[in-house]
Amino acid sequence: MPERPVPTMTVGIVGAGITGLTLAHHLEITDTEYVVFEADSEPGGVIRSRQVDGHLLEWGPQRLRRTEPVDKLIIDLGLADEVIEAGETKLFVYANGKLRRAPFSIEEFGQTDLLSWRGKLDVLKEPQTDPADPEETAAELFTRKFGEEAYRNLIGPLFGGIYGSEPERMPVKHALSGVLLMEQKYGNLLTPVLKRAMSGGTSAPAISFDEGVQRLPEALYDAHSENVHLDTAVTEIRESDDGYLLETENESVKVDEVVLTTAAEMSAYLLENLTDSADALDRLNYNPLALVHLHADCNRDGFGYQVRHDEGLDTLGVSWNASMFGRDGVYTVFLGGMKNPQLVEESEETLGEIARTEFNDVMDADADVLSVVSLDRGFPAYDTSWDALSEFEAPDGIHLATNYTARMGVPSRIREAKGLATALAESYATRP
Ligand SMILES: Cc1cc2nc3c(=O)[nH]c(=O)nc-3n(C[C@H](O)[C@H](O)[C@H](O)COP(=O)(O)OP(=O)(O)OC[C@H]3O[C@@H](n4cnc5c(N)ncnc54)[C@H](O)[C@@H]3O)c2cc1C
Repeated sequence: MPERPVPTMTVGIVGAGITGLTLAHHLEITDTEYVVFEADSEPGGVIRSRQVDGHLLEWGPQRLRRTEPVDKLIIDLGLADEVIEAGETKLFVYANGKLRRAPFSIEEFGQTDLLSWRGKLDVLKEPQTDPADPEETAAELFTRKFGEEAYRNLIGPLFGGIYGSEPERMPVKHALSGVLLMEQKYGNLLTPVLKRAMSGGTSAPAISFDEGVQRLPEALYDAHSENVHLDTAVTEIRESDDGYLLETENESVKVDEVVLTTAAEMSAYLLENLTDSADALDRLNYNPLALVHLHADCNRDGFGYQVRHDEGLDTLGVSWNASMFGRDGVYTVFLGGMKNPQLVEESEETLGEIARTEFNDVMDADADVLSVVSLDRGFPAYDTSWDALSEFEAPDGIHLATNYTARMGVPSRIREAKGLATALAESYATRP
């Protein structure tokens, strides 16, 4: 067998999605050596922006929030001129056969027809309820604290929509760790909600780029391509002296530390010879999803809508890309999720027809199907299967960084990658 080249590297990163590439970016800033391996032929992971019939479609995230770490990355990469900020921030819930605006300010709370006056009073009584219990489900917590109506008509559809999940099956300890911290800080949940409402309900603005969300990982790749190997899957990780060997089809690369940004199943596979606990990762559930992109001539302003659970629709929610980012008549329908995982196995034709028909019922507009994308592993489920994480022990020098170590949103991925880069750089600086 010919001898394989064994260059010495420092941090070996598996995956060139947003987490792996942001990590690479911050390691570069701190002068820490790294190498990234990506199985796919393009950077971005689940972030996929595509041109179909002259329309820009997002096959992964539709938008991201411009939080402070995201903004810093945009500036570092010189992308500020390519950012598009979402115009209208209105969000709707389809409830009782009608689109109704979700309230994000005090004034909207007073006006909303998603809640009766009794329902509104129940929300205001939240500070009198018992504190959150990490073992209860998200549905139990929201119902107990804000009332049945607020949960069913507002919080359930909005929160469930984020993950394509069912809050009835999501324990607070996995799904709402941020809420637990917020309650500890303010003594209740209403105070931070009111504080935000009083500031007009604003948070970091929702953004995309002229060429779509994938522009961000592409720009990261362009800036660091020398150390990022596309089309190069890591097939095995082996222990070697003080570090690890990352095996790919053509070479074996020695690294001191490894960061896996891969989905749980792949991480379990790559770690199976290094820790008996790897199997725990394989037990994490993800919600299958189908995204159907429609083209329609509608005149609605806002982000889109989520569907109340008992409306009898297969549609989980719809993003109005047309109004958010001026994407000429494009609407993205989400189907499947924890509510109906088998649906994703239907043919593209069936999925397209369901999306089109239900869109027509809700929006009163004809639509054409532009594309259908099915994802076996869409959003992390954050259900009881995530208890398995407590059994996982990472071998020394192996780090996990993706949606099972922190939240799944792009800003959270960027924040985690930056934090990990800082920690790795510091640990190198203090090495004997
Ligand atoms: C449909 C959808 C909609 C979303 N919507 C939003 C949204 O609107 N806003 C938001 O903020 N977030 C959203 N998210 C969440 C967010 O996009 C993801 O959590 C985030 O992009 C994940 O990034 P990552 O780098 O951690 O993982 P990934 O993107 O999964 O990257 C992992 C990479 O590892 C590679 N890989 C796998 N195995 C190997 C191997 N053996 N060797 C080398 N490489 C390997 C993969 O090819 C992949 O590129 C959405 C996610 C999905 C799926």
